[in-house]
Amino acid sequence: MENYDVIIIGSGLGGLECGVILGREGYKVLILEKNKQVGGNLQIFSRDKRIFDTGVHYVGGLNPGQNLHTYFSYFGIMDDLKLHQMSKEAFDIVSFENDPIEYPYGQGYDQYIEGLVKLFPEERAGIEKFCDKVREVCQAFPLYQLQVDDNPVGYKDVLNLNAADFIDSCTENEKLRKVLGGTNPLFAGIGSKTPFYILALVTNSYIESAWKFVDGGGQIAKLLVREIRKVGGEIKKHADVVKIEFEDKRAKSVVTKSGDRYYGDMIISNVHPAYTVKMIEPGILKRAFTKRVSQMENTSSVFILYLVLKEDSMPFINSNYYHYINDDVWGGVDYDEETWPPSYAVFSGVSSKTKQYCDTMIVMAYMKMEEVEEWDSTFNTVSEGDDRGERYEEFKKVKAEKLLDAMEGKFPGIRDRIESYYTSTPLTYRDYINTPGGSMYGIMKDASDPLRSFVSPRTKVPNLLFTGQNLNMHGVLGVTIGAVQTCSEIVGHKYLMEKILSASNVEA
Ligand SMILES: Cc1cc2nc3c(=O)[nH]c(=O)nc-3n(C[C@H](O)[C@H](O)[C@H](O)COP(=O)(O)OP(=O)(O)OC[C@H]3O[C@@H](n4cnc5c(N)ncnc54)[C@H](O)[C@@H]3O)c2cc1C
Repeated sequence: MENYDVIIIGSGLGGLECGVILGREGYKVLILEKNKQVGGNLQIFSRDKRIFDTGVHYVGGLNPGQNLHTYFSYFGIMDDLKLHQMSKEAFDIVSFENDPIEYPYGQGYDQYIEGLVKLFPEERAGIEKFCDKVREVCQAFPLYQLQVDDNPVGYKDVLNLNAADFIDSCTENEKLRKVLGGTNPLFAGIGSKTPFYILALVTNSYIESAWKFVDGGGQIAKLLVREIRKVGGEIKKHADVVKIEFEDKRAKSVVTKSGDRYYGDMIISNVHPAYTVKMIEPGILKRAFTKRVSQMENTSSVFILYLVLKEDSMPFINSNYYHYINDDVWGGVDYDEETWPPSYAVFSGVSSKTKQYCDTMIVMAYMKMEEVEEWDSTFNTVSEGDDRGERYEEFKKVKAEKLLDAMEGKFPGIRDRIESYYTSTPLTYRDYINTPGGSMYGIMKDASDPLRSFVSPRTKVPNLLFTGQNLNMHGVLGVTIGAVQTCSEIVGHKYLMEKILSASNVEA
């Protein structure tokens, strides 16, 4: 019977990062991953010799001294990442059907502000008010600011601020309002709910600096696995945890679907809290907590079109596009069948094989789980599963063709450049990641009731913790900060932050 100091359920970014931190602190770590590939949303796949990301298209904050650079330096992966910096003038472009203007988001606040003021010369004050608030709100999050002291200043005050409302207070200009909220798919925002801090933390990170991964973001997972192995950590794949067992109100062991049992002094779950509580017998956790996390609303899911482009047919695009056919940027999640897709986002892949041309494009449009309800009882991943049959293939084809038709408005001639395409639906994310309804970013945050969607890394069980995108924030940066919070509960916050800062020579 092998006993571990820490068992981590799930090898998503948060699970892997906890593995590195605790392994380095001398804990004997075991990570159990249900899939064939580690990384959760960091997974990549290849088709027709092209590489596709599944859940990381770009990240921010990777200039020396910036937050993600500092964290990744501590993790020992920064120097080995193959990165590509996006356009400084327009890393993101917001665009609208029947409007030829492309609205740029530039890197650096000066570039961001001047790029928009050029298009909205009367609106400098409103654009500056928006940027000032973004920066002010980011100040309220100590770990985002790499501060050793984790005592949030003014944190509570910012949780209630609604993003769409604040943007409306910056300007009367309808177009500018839409542009400022135009990267909505980065957080699957809903006008009546999404807090401004979510938009601020995401937007600020990219304005600081915006990067893509050459040949995909899977390299983050690969490098973290290297670091875990260096300190003796173990990772077992095809290990689907179905049960957490208890003794004297402490978690004692976990059991996998195939019946293997592993004993641990501490258990960290990188799995969505609603599914984690299902692994625990009733009566261990408070009923109110179980009910609350099971009923939390989750962010939307997505339909994705993975385009393999004909060789040298499409000049490389160093920007992401957020294109709106229906220009209600906060209402895209609530599309109806007739008008789908009301919007879509386009990310070109960066390949080591060509710098001048795009060899892949990923096109994302919101999709509700209800659309694929007919196949709800099926399960399918690369290692196991049901054939969903011809009707499902037909459904995906119809959606893909509709999305391609929609793309012609902004990318005329796109069809002629496509060699082949592949698709994913909400079922793909549900089955690979184990997230309710195939939700992209996990639990939905609501400015009108921020505490209801709050999940602490600590649970009432002293040796059971959470990590991952359902803590505070999704995204590579948000999850990294979450992993630091989870491990701070074990090794101490000040101690860990000082180690992180000294690893990258940032002064505490
Ligand atoms: C379409 C899409 C695009 C995105 N684009 C970006 C982007 O451009 N930039 C960015 O920063 N972020 C992006 N994100 C968000 C980012 O990818 C995620 O927030 C982050 O990777 C989540 O990490 P996590 O630690 O929560 O783990 P997850 O990725 O949620 O992984 C959880 C892991 O747990 C495993 N697991 C689940 N249940 C079990 C079980 N019972 N037993 C064992 N293992 C289990 C799963 O297989 C998975 O490996 C995107 C997400 C999506 C979906």
